[in-house]
Amino acid sequence: MSEELKPCAHCGGEAVFDHDDHGWTWIVCKNCGISTNCRVSCGEDCRPLLAEDWNRRAIPQNSTELARRAERDAVIEECAQAVRRTEIVEAENSQYAQLGDAAATLDDAISNVLALKGK
Ligand SMILES: [Zn+2]
Repeated sequence: MSEELKPCAHCGGEAVFDHDDHGWTWIVCKNCGISTNCRVSCGEDCRPLLAEDWNRRAIPQNSTELARRAERDAVIEECAQAVRRTEIVEAENSQYAQLGDAAATLDDAISNVLALKGK
């Protein structure tokens, strides 16, 4: 019996049945690894019940929910890039400040040399 499984509600990945050697069965997303609870078959095949659990929370790919999550992820990435750009600008400003200090020190040294030569 093959139960049709909807794509993963979290990532849209492919879902499959998995089982262990003790008769426990569950459904797992091949992409993100999220899974249902385990069920054991007692006389009856437990897979239809698992599929019912899985498909109840599964939503189709390209749904508004997945689109909304993708949009949110894009905004988060944009913010992360803005933070990185800010860090780069701050690092450059710090380097310019150090260059300014070095130039001031050099100016002082030149003034001292000129003053000594003048004497
Ligand atoms: Zn998934």
